[in-house]
Amino acid sequence: MNIAFIAHDKKKDDLVKFAIAYEEVLKDHRLYSTGTTGKRIMAETKLDIHRFKSGPLGGDQQIGSMIAENDMDLVIFFKDPLTAQPHEPDITALIRLCDVYTIPLATNMATAEILLSGLQRGEFTWREIEKEQGNDT
Ligand code: PGA
Repeated sequence: MNIAFIAHDKKKDDLVKFAIAYEEVLKDHRLYSTGTTGKRIMAETKLDIHRFKSGPLGGDQQIGSMIAENDMDLVIFFKDPLTAQPHEPDITALIRLCDVYTIPLATNMATAEILLSGLQRGEFTWREIEKEQGNDT
């Protein structure tokens, strides 16, 4: 599966802890992230992550582009709901694309835990079928 990670600054510590906790599961997947988020995760795990640009510089849009191409299977996005973000339109666009293409999206740790549990149980095979059939809305 192709999995994307994004965390706003005040949520980066939480996402790093999450990645450490699920490292054994995540290492078997292709991982992507916005710039700083990926740098932080790679510094504290052995995970190999393709880093896009930093979120405010277009990283969210680059991940959005993969979603639009039906190339992203799961998005873990630890949003900070208490801090204004300069790239709010990009964030809204990314979430919108997940809904357009029916891509599982976690915007907080509780949902992310449930999605990763589903991933471990093999509950994402429908994504492979979706990609094989080219069902891209
Ligand atoms: P960053 O981007 O990982 O480069 O900090 C995340 C964001 O703020 O959207």
